[in-house]
Amino acid sequence: MVTAYIAFGSNLSDRNKNIQDAILLLKTHPKIKVIKTSSIIETEPEGGLKQGKFLNGAVKIETDLSARQLLQALQDVENKLGRERAVKNGPRTIDLDIIFYNDQTINEPDLIIPHPRWSQRSFVKDPIQEICE
Ligand code: ADP
Ligand code: MG
Repeated sequence: MVTAYIAFGSNLSDRNKNIQDAILLLKTHPKIKVIKTSSIIETEPEGGLKQGKFLNGAVKIETDLSARQLLQALQDVENKLGRERAVKNGPRTIDLDIIFYNDQTINEPDLIIPHPRWSQRSFVKDPIQEICE
């Protein structure tokens, strides 16, 4: 059994509903147990692209899925919540990123754990700090 931390963010359509729907899909996944959910915070978009403010937060989970299976499960949730309708590189209905997977380090082209720059992003760091003890 692995403990993992998932950061989420939404800045499109009903941001709160997107996040609640995503958490519900994680909670009902047969191989994911949601242990703790952080507060939801509103944050300014980073990266210069003009877009709406985000709601961000994080969940602590336990799972038997491999890191890659977990990534796939998160992408399934993103797709279910309409992520495919988002403009490329633009605002997103929901973004689910794996920040930690136990204390493992993974460096593959499409899967990097711990998630790059997590500690410099307060919208990731603060929610994780809240739930990590
Ligand atoms: P963003 O970088 O803004 O989260 P996307 O959600 O579109 O952008 O993700 C782009 C790619 O990031 C995904 O296709 C995925 O393969 C890759 N990726 C690499 N490491 C991770 C990780 N730790 N968690 C989630 N996605 C990751
Ligand atoms: Mg992502």
